[in-house]
Amino acid sequence: MKYVTLKELKNWLNRLAQEVDLIAPRDVDGHVLYRPVASSDEILFDYERPELSAKEFIFPATEVLLRIEKRGTEVTQEEVLPERKQVIFGVRPCDAHGFAVIDALFLEQDPPDRYYAHHRERTTLVGIACPQMWEGCFCASMGGAPDDPTHLDVLLRAVEGGYVVEAVTEKGKVLLKGLETKNRDQKPGFSEKTRLLEQPVPVTEPARWRELFEDRIWMRHGERCLSCRICTYVCPTCRCFDVADRVIEERAGFTRIERIRAWDACTSTNYRRAAGGHNSRPTKPGRIRNRFFCKFCYYPEDFGPLGCVGCGRCVVSCPVDIDIREVMGDVAAR
Ligand code: SF4
Ligand code: SF4
Repeated sequence: MKYVTLKELKNWLNRLAQEVDLIAPRDVDGHVLYRPVASSDEILFDYERPELSAKEFIFPATEVLLRIEKRGTEVTQEEVLPERKQVIFGVRPCDAHGFAVIDALFLEQDPPDRYYAHHRERTTLVGIACPQMWEGCFCASMGGAPDDPTHLDVLLRAVEGGYVVEAVTEKGKVLLKGLETKNRDQKPGFSEKTRLLEQPVPVTEPARWRELFEDRIWMRHGERCLSCRICTYVCPTCRCFDVADRVIEERAGFTRIERIRAWDACTSTNYRRAAGGHNSRPTKPGRIRNRFFCKFCYYPEDFGPLGCVGCGRCVVSCPVDIDIREVMGDVAAR
């Protein structure tokens, strides 16, 4: 097994930070978040699941797509795409799985989403296996595992004094060229016993979900929803967006506009409001039903993967304790 000491790893990250945009888990006023870092001193190596997923670094919450200028009748437009390579270090396996879920929509359709594809291409994912299950997580029920290398480019597993290093993809191998490793026979700390602590969450076939469209489950879970959208924003697989033009500058004969893409949320009151004010999904239970149908019925039917990786963030973030595991249990029990 390839092994690296923490000291060597930090030296490598310091060099990397000079060459690429380096994103890593950081303590931001007591919150663990993936954020840009300039040196390894800023990075948390012993950290929980970050409070927000890494999604925003591939699919930004707000992204300028085009800068448009109108001079009289002449219109010019410039595409905005960052050039620098990016490394997301310390990404948890569930967040990497989340990218694989979104890929099915943004990369694997024709045509692929140009902006998402660009960010995906310029990014290398270096994961650190979770040393334990966190509150609310159920990744194993969703086809993942706390130490799953599948959707990462590199996986690190903590061992005494350092990490066991696994290059998963070619991209990962290229990135690791600058990292000094030793061969050492050392078993990573995460045990099968720990993994089995997860309470399995049942996954029900899409066809059965369709039979439950009018079920009272949706009133039971949805009636207390606050439409705050937190569950959607913390989720590594939610990918709805809106596009709008924003006027930046306007004077006689000249207008500068930015075309912006921003996250949208199906749990929001206005999500289905159309011109003229009609809202085709006006109730909270209807919107909660859609959120769960999207994840376990519509998305797998249309694109393949389930729309959930079991990261547990919506479980711990919902202010009124709407728990996806409970909903899935209710659906399975009907
Ligand atoms: S639905 Fe909830 S548990 Fe599933 S991936 Fe999204 S935030 Fe995580
Ligand atoms: S976090 Fe909870 S209350 Fe807020 S929109 Fe989601 S389900 Fe509703």
